[in-house]
Amino acid sequence: MLQLPDILLQHLQGVHGFDKEALIAAHGLPAVTSVRLNPHKHSMAFADNAAVPWCASGRYLQARPVFTVDPLYHAGAYYVQEASSMFLHHVLSSHVLNNTSLRVLDLCAAPGGKSTLIASFLGADDLLVSNEVIRTRASVLEENMTRWGCMNTWVTSNDPKDLGRLSGYFDVIVVDAPCSGSGLFRKDARALDEWSEANVLLCSQRQQRILADVWPALKEDGILIYATCSYSPQEDEEILDWLADNFEVKGLSVTTRSEWGVVETQSAKGMYGYRFSPDKVQGEGFFIAAIQKKEETDELKPIRYKTLQDKKAQEQTKHLSDTDYTCLQLDKDNYAAIHPAHEADYHTLKQYVYLRKTGTQLGTPTPKEWLPSHDAAMSIHIAATLPKLELNKEQALKFLKKEDFALPDGTHKGWILLTYNGLSLGWIKALGNRFNNYLPKHWRIRMEISDMDWA
Ligand code: SAM
Repeated sequence: MLQLPDILLQHLQGVHGFDKEALIAAHGLPAVTSVRLNPHKHSMAFADNAAVPWCASGRYLQARPVFTVDPLYHAGAYYVQEASSMFLHHVLSSHVLNNTSLRVLDLCAAPGGKSTLIASFLGADDLLVSNEVIRTRASVLEENMTRWGCMNTWVTSNDPKDLGRLSGYFDVIVVDAPCSGSGLFRKDARALDEWSEANVLLCSQRQQRILADVWPALKEDGILIYATCSYSPQEDEEILDWLADNFEVKGLSVTTRSEWGVVETQSAKGMYGYRFSPDKVQGEGFFIAAIQKKEETDELKPIRYKTLQDKKAQEQTKHLSDTDYTCLQLDKDNYAAIHPAHEADYHTLKQYVYLRKTGTQLGTPTPKEWLPSHDAAMSIHIAATLPKLELNKEQALKFLKKEDFALPDGTHKGWILLTYNGLSLGWIKALGNRFNNYLPKHWRIRMEISDMDWA
């Protein structure tokens, strides 16, 4: 049985909805497992599982499978995400009107749970900037966003202060802040070992710093969504009060159903927050709040730029995509497909931040042909007419392990997209019954696969 820290329990006394005995008892039960389906990559995955009540594409799982041996996981058919945090979908649906082109910043984005959710909420001409300051974590974020396949999700790796210089640029900013992690004790016992009162204080100071740094980037009337996976009021309601003390804000409420078990709290300054506690919800500990900025904010002036559109590369790559895009040459051998409405964003953003991933990488021209990228293979816009080869599970896992298997007789020579349940896993170049595997090395499954999992 997990032993919750006494000091944490003391801090929770008086917090609306806190039930000490029930919370302790819930920590004797296993964590809930859930996934969120990719609405643009339909598959049979978890089709019959119960839905998460506040997020239509969320699904509860009875047990935690080994996701690594499921090719659909690698195809981006779903993202493994804790159910409480999917409430972000409900907050977005309640407060973000998606009838104009939106710019959304997910400031603390790795590994990508909230960003994949936001990407599924947005329309094609909206732009999501998904940022992660820690470089190693940013590469995991980039991989997960590539798998999710949306051209309008770009990845940056910057300090919040750098993004703060984009004055009045974003309609929505999501800050899923680094926190003391008490809400994840059931999922990750290390969070319990690392928990201390001093760390709660440190985290709350860091949360304030992050929010102050990024605040100028939010438009007037824009929405800030603040979340943590901590139970501590110092990192939750007290942060909302700190915002109310330091900026002009309006707290926003969302409608919930009593059977969901979500607890609405109000901070001392009357700001609304939503608490998730495993004794009440089918999910882990989580806190989320939405706040509207009520301050006059200068917006960056539109900049003049020389287009980077490369018409030749556009012509050479048009067979890859089923949707309109603008092909930009960002660098030597670096060609990106972006939504035609987003070129000005590219030129603006690159003056302020390090863009790790802009749109969908298209690949590289060689003297003989276009070398398509893995990013293009994973795109939700990949052309339906490209040569494809459907694999069984064993072949799919062999491809993902970069192991050989025989191609069926008569397989077309050249570039082929390998698919599993109709979803793309990556490219091969077929040379008769042999092939070259173009799955990037660092995407390879390294795990030993047991006899049972191959079939
Ligand atoms: N939003 C992510 C998701 O849903 O998958 C989880 C984000 S996690 C709670 C917080 C993130 O903030 C981590 O990836 C961490 O590296 C990042 N972080 C740590 N210190 C930071 C700082 N000073 N400024 C901004 N982000 C920071």
